[in-house]
Amino acid sequence: MEKNAKIYIAGHTGLVGSAILRALQAQGYSKYLLHTIEELDLTRQSVVDDLFKQECPDYVILAAAKVGGIQANNTYPADFIYINLQLESNIIHSAYQYGVKKLCFLGSSCIYPKYAQQPMKEDYLLDGKLEPTNESYAIAKIAGIKMCQAYNRQYSTNFISVMPTNLYGPHDNFDLQSSHVLPALIRKFVDARKSSAPSATVWGTGSPKREFLFVDDLADAVIFLMNHYDDGEIVNIGTGKDISILELASLIKEEVGFNGTIEFDSTKPDGTPRKLLDVTKLNQLGWTAKTPLREGIRKTIQWYLENK
Ligand code: GDP
Repeated sequence: MEKNAKIYIAGHTGLVGSAILRALQAQGYSKYLLHTIEELDLTRQSVVDDLFKQECPDYVILAAAKVGGIQANNTYPADFIYINLQLESNIIHSAYQYGVKKLCFLGSSCIYPKYAQQPMKEDYLLDGKLEPTNESYAIAKIAGIKMCQAYNRQYSTNFISVMPTNLYGPHDNFDLQSSHVLPALIRKFVDARKSSAPSATVWGTGSPKREFLFVDDLADAVIFLMNHYDDGEIVNIGTGKDISILELASLIKEEVGFNGTIEFDSTKPDGTPRKLLDVTKLNQLGWTAKTPLREGIRKTIQWYLENK
């Protein structure tokens, strides 16, 4: 990407989009197209069409999405499939129609089958049944990948798709009902410490394993791939390491400085037993994650304390 190219970041106020904007700015990219969800409803095709017609962006980072943790996905499956299908379909089609040089579609590690062999390689996509708690979201993301590949094949576009593992960092959603586990546990332990509660509650059994990537690392990987990867085949983005939810809870408890105990609410779902990405392809392309989990958690706690 040329430093003076016009880059449209769809979803620039979210966890992922804001990190990509910070990273692009730090690397000297100077021209952006940015609109908040209040200004532009990306689920409306005519709105997206007008935007591309008027602004003609050179590059597109498709980070806009309706996202949420296990409970939100499980409770609002219609919203997750409708909103995500609409906005990605509108943006990918307009990117083709208005001659965007390259687009990066942000997917998710939940596109892989529930019982996929671990770590999950890119070619396990569509090899088995999905995890039911986030099937709607996963189907929408798979449709986005397949759209990018179809446009590349039929229209010779340069649309790439990346699959990040579970992300966390500044600007995350800390709402206890709709967030992912890492921000939820930061909030729960901070609140428990403040109120001197004897314990804090973790959902499920604590035994599922997840991989966590600091969002600034993800942003760096996306820019790296925009500059060094031109292929429709998906690329995993992760650290290659996972930990159990109990281990994660213990780590956050320690970093927050909460001295009480951890309790488990087994009425809440565990979701998929393990989600670890195989990142061999990304490593071979020349990129590896930099931020150790403890350091990323420390930075996220600090951001939470200063901003929430
Ligand atoms: P997932 O990776 O799609 O399952 O999404 P989450 O990040 O929401 O959940 C990951 C795991 O953490 C699941 O096993 C949850 O049951 C568990 N978990 C434990 N405590 C919490 C919590 O307070 N909030 C959320 N969202 N998940 C939690």
